[in-house]
Order: sequence, then structure tokens, then C-alpha cells
Amino acid sequence: MDTLRKHLARITHLNQAAAVLEWDMETYMPEGGAEARSQQVATLRSMAHEMLVSDETVALLEHAEPDSDVDRDLIRVVQKDIEKAHRVPSSLIAAMAEASGRAKGAWQKARSSNDFPVFAPHLERIVDLCVQHAEALGYDDQPYDALLDQYEEGATTRQVAAVFEEVRNDLVPFVKELTGTGMLCEGPVHREYPEDDQWAFGLEMAERMGYDLNHGRQDRSAHPFSTSFSISDVRITTRLEKRFFNPAFFGTLHEAGHAMYEQGIDPVLEGTPLADGTSLGIHESQSRMWENLVGRSLPFWEFAFPRVQRTFPDALGDVSLDGFYRAINAVAPSTIRVEADEVTYNLHIMLRFELEQEMIAGKVSIKDLPQEWNDRMEAWLGVRPQDDAEGVLQDIHWSLGAIGYFPTYALGNLMSVQLFEAAREAIPDLDDHFRRGEFSALLAWLRTNVHQWGRRKTADQILVDSTGSHLSAAPWMAYVKRKFGALHGA
Ligand code: ZN
Repeated sequence: MDTLRKHLARITHLNQAAAVLEWDMETYMPEGGAEARSQQVATLRSMAHEMLVSDETVALLEHAEPDSDVDRDLIRVVQKDIEKAHRVPSSLIAAMAEASGRAKGAWQKARSSNDFPVFAPHLERIVDLCVQHAEALGYDDQPYDALLDQYEEGATTRQVAAVFEEVRNDLVPFVKELTGTGMLCEGPVHREYPEDDQWAFGLEMAERMGYDLNHGRQDRSAHPFSTSFSISDVRITTRLEKRFFNPAFFGTLHEAGHAMYEQGIDPVLEGTPLADGTSLGIHESQSRMWENLVGRSLPFWEFAFPRVQRTFPDALGDVSLDGFYRAINAVAPSTIRVEADEVTYNLHIMLRFELEQEMIAGKVSIKDLPQEWNDRMEAWLGVRPQDDAEGVLQDIHWSLGAIGYFPTYALGNLMSVQLFEAAREAIPDLDDHFRRGEFSALLAWLRTNVHQWGRRKTADQILVDSTGSHLSAAPWMAYVKRKFGALHGA
């Protein structure tokens, strides 16, 4: 076991070093350094990959003598990782890297000139490679299962589709009902918020919620993210908009939610592949919980509103707690996913999930994609993109070859409420904790039930062990109806 752990630690160190280089690339690196940096990252990542799938690892796994549950979990997870890696020929990985390198450039060009045909042949190639990838990985029911499994291990298309359909049938009429009552006033969040104060206020609240700055830090980047260099160094980035409160503040809470998950992994897993989030859905459940279920809740703002008002007297001096709470929870169907509110966000994901399945199954041709996109957007959200740049071209994911990724965003939303309801049952006066600005009871519950496990438990095991049930749409739907029904007097 000792030799195996040392070997795995060397692999982990290579990946962690690559993460530092990638973080620097998005934060401080001068633009001209990109070419050399990409090569450095690629070298480290491929060294780590080769070491992982090497005969040496296989032999060490065979001869290891586990004497704890952690040892047994480690062997099981690494064996599975290697087995999956062996199924995909390296020629296919290289083809995907090359195709996505080109597709990303074409996507940027297509988006800026609103010219879908520039991207279409590249997307066709990506879809073709994803189908080959799915065939190589293998699946029981349909190719999309294999793609989904890369990001949400164990989830199946059939199961996810059933859960999403349940949400959509209920959600589409609910959104129509809400928007029919007239839009809530978003005004107060679109005033002048000095950037330095946004920076400090967001970080102060994230720290108060439990983001440990002895083992983390915040920097600026164009696209916010969190990244882990080890359990003891997990960082976040934030972007600032002078005249919009939401992106920095809720973005910081979101990324801090991801980071708190990684900071909470059991230190005995450090240096092993188990020291990671177990699925993207569970990861997103943590960011969404702090962003929305805590950060957009009334009890939280009963605590935080006097503070935000003192920090931004010019913007919020004449605003009431109720007015502010309504502004940060305004529901307004939009064509842009990243600007979507808590209610409509899942519909954006379901649209992508459906189209991805149809592309992989060959049921929709790439040239018809813009039309299909716009029609569904209009049917579900009541808004139609003005052009393809704000329609089918808005997201980078497909150009990167990441088909099967989108559903994890909505799964995270659903899981966040399932977990939150379970935490609330264990801590019945949770709202009072928030009103006092105390979050340690919730964090401790998450540490025990979710964070500490790393990849030792699957997403499904985490849900079943901590909530008593598998993935379910009902808690999220009930939450949304309760909260936004009340806000809209429905
Ligand atoms: Zn996230």
C-alpha cells in the first residue's frame, strides 16, 4: 500500500502542478505566454496520464494489501479509472484534442460574427468523435450514456431524462404564470457598486460561510472558476462589474461553495485520486447551495442587508430589505444561460441536454440546430434569440468536445435542494443560524455527509446515505414554487 500511495502521489503532484500553471494562465500570465504554457500543461498532463495507466500502476494495484476501507476504496477507484482509460485509444484522444483546438477558434469567430456555418463543420467533427468516444467507452443502453458517465458517473440518460421531464412539465407553466404577474424590479442591483468594495464584501461573506483563506485565496479572471492545488490550497476567481451587484457577489459565493467542498475532503486522501469531487453534479450542488439556498435566502439577508447597505450607501441607502431581496430574486426569462435566474436556469440546461442527445443519436442535423434551438427556447421560455450568437453559439462547451457536461448543472441544482432539505431536518433552526450570520452548523453537516468522502462514495451513495433517496426532482420543484410563488403573490 505504501509503495502504491507514493506512486499515486507522484501522479497527483504532476496534475496539481498543471493546475497551478492553468490557474496562472487565467489570472496573471501575459497573453504572449499562452503558446508555451499550453505545451507545459500538456506535457505534465500527459506524463500524469501515462504514469497512471502504466504497467507499474497495474502491478502495484495487484500486489497492494489493503488494511483499511480507505485503502480498499482507493484500489477500487483507481482500477476503474485505469480500466476506463485503457478503453479509449490514444489516437482518438489526440484527434479530439486537435479537433477541439480548431473548433474553439472557429466557435469564437462564428460567435463574434454571428455566423453559425463557420462553426458547423467543426461541430459535426466533434459530434462524430464523441460518438466514437462513446463506442470506445461502451454503454448498456445508448451512446449518450457513456458521454454523461464521464462527468456524472453512474447516471444514465434514461434516468436523467425522466427527472428532467418531470421538472419541465411543471416548470414551463409555472414560469409563464410568474412572468404574467409582471417583472420584479431588478433596479437596485444595477447601480454603481465600487469594485474594491464588491471584492472585499463578497470575500468577507464567503469567509464567514466557511471558505478558509488560510488555505485559499481570491483572484480576478474573465471567467470565474475554482481550482484545487491540494486539499490545503483551494482557490477561487471572481469577475467584477461596476454597475451590477450580482456577478461578483453570487459568483464569489458559487465558487467558494465549490472550494469549500474541496477544502473539506478528508486529509488522509491527500495525494490520491480520491481527493476530488465525486461528480460534477455533486460539485455543483455545493456551489448552488451557498449561492442560492443560502445566499439568495431571506434569513441570510436579514443578517447581511445592514452590512451590504453600509458597504454601498450610495446604491442601497434608499432600498429596503424587501426591495433588495426581490431584486436579487427577480425572475426574467432570458436567452442567455449564464444570466438566467434560479427558476429558469434548468430549462436552459434541458434544452442543451435534448439537443446533445439528438446530435449523438443522429436525430438532428447540425445545419438545423439553430432553428431547433430557437423553437424550443421560445416554447419553453417564451423568448427567442435575436441571432445565433445569443442562441446556439453562446456556450463554449461543445467546441471543447464536452458533450454530456451540461446536464450536471441542472443535476447540481436538484441535488442542492435534496441535500439542503436533509440538512434542515437535522438542524431545524437553520434559518435562525443564518439570521445570526452563523453557517458552521450547515458546513459541518456538509463536511460529514458530502465533503469528507471525496470520491470514496458515488453521487448516488451520497444522496441515499444523507437524504434517504435517489436523485429526485420533487424537492427542487417544491422549493421553487414555495419561494417564488410567495415572491410573486401566487
Ligand atoms: Zn459551478
